[in-house]
Amino acid sequence: MIITPKMRGFICTTAHPAGCAENVRLQVEYAKARRFSNVNTPKKVLVIGSSTGYGLASRIAAAFCCGADTLGVFFEKTAAKGRTATAGWYNNVALERLCKDAGLVAESINGDAFSNDVKAETIALIKEKLGGKIDLVVYSLASPKRQDPLTGEVYSSVIKPIGSPFTGKTVDFHTGEVSDVTVGPATEQETAHTVKVMGGEDWLLWAKALSEAGVLAQNAVTVAFSYIGPSLTHAVYKDGTIGMAKVDLEENAGQITELLSPIGGRAFVSVNKALVTQASAAIPVVPLYMAILFKLMKAESIHEDCVAQMTRMLRERLCAEDGVIPTDEKNRIRLDDLEMREDIQSGVEEIWRRVNTENSEVLTDLEGYREDFLRLFGFGLESVDYSLDIEP
Ligand code: NAD
Repeated sequence: MIITPKMRGFICTTAHPAGCAENVRLQVEYAKARRFSNVNTPKKVLVIGSSTGYGLASRIAAAFCCGADTLGVFFEKTAAKGRTATAGWYNNVALERLCKDAGLVAESINGDAFSNDVKAETIALIKEKLGGKIDLVVYSLASPKRQDPLTGEVYSSVIKPIGSPFTGKTVDFHTGEVSDVTVGPATEQETAHTVKVMGGEDWLLWAKALSEAGVLAQNAVTVAFSYIGPSLTHAVYKDGTIGMAKVDLEENAGQITELLSPIGGRAFVSVNKALVTQASAAIPVVPLYMAILFKLMKAESIHEDCVAQMTRMLRERLCAEDGVIPTDEKNRIRLDDLEMREDIQSGVEEIWRRVNTENSEVLTDLEGYREDFLRLFGFGLESVDYSLDIEP
């Protein structure tokens, strides 16, 4: 089968196995070139949400910067008649192979991380294949819905402002057309449900399950991801429904640290840079912001992708040589320091005021945004021959 990208809005319904494998290989090469080791490097790592985006990159960084054995949990579709697998499924196959070639344990579970069954399966695999204890848990889920494991009720998350409607600039990144988009405010129920899906409740349930099963090593660390961004995006992000979920995530970090105190464990929220992932492409306003941001960060040679961020998180934050993890006043790890630099943000604001359909290709890095987007699905990589027939 010849596999080409099939776009539907901000998703691509096909994925290329060889392209996804190449994408993973390039990230592995990046991490390998930055190997390091000290008393704080993790040896056994669980990544929840490990098949794409930040989770995939953190697993790659743990394995190839730190030489860690890893267990990944994700929710992806296998190929079916006439349909390719999802990109995350191909990513995982490629990563497991590279880990095993490097002599590292790499185990994976494809299932619903919100469920009790997957938590139990994970614990059993840690005992069976990872020596019974893990020292780092990365929680990197981005999901549109969650089934509560106790009540069976299914909750959906929405990306909406709170209180009043928000109108802002947005871009159709396929065409470069810039227009105003208005997003209506969330109902109280929508906000509560978004917190239920994307907040910290499930992270805490994972911490409880792992600690009760005795599979967390002494001084184990767990980290989950958040985003803050500039005031331009606050209405739809920080002050919107997703932002409320992130506040909940931060509150749960405190509870998890308390829970893990008998083993000296700690939980952190890491505030990461805005990057093109399947989750972030769905947020209005944000893609235009990112296209401007990338232009400016690339010009300053400070642009990072997911694997660069996750490598920096391990080298300079979680595994800081002196054991002191640098955080802000709210105990958060900040990997958005370069994105939020004053010169970068004032540059973004200046371009934001001027950008329109006529100048969007010149003033912003829409080309880079599109490239990143296609890459998520294994397309647009120079070294891949897309004219070849390939078994999905
Ligand atoms: P992503 O869509 O690339 O990855 C989501 C992962 O979650 C995938 O591995 C997917 O398989 C997994 N997943 C989803 N539902 C699942 C389920 N029910 N069971 C098991 N696995 C499931 O998203 P991402 O952008 O990497 O986001 C990860 C985290 O990082 C999120 O908390 C997000 O808010 C945060 N973050 C993202 C950005 C950004 O710009 N992309 C910036 C800062 C923080």
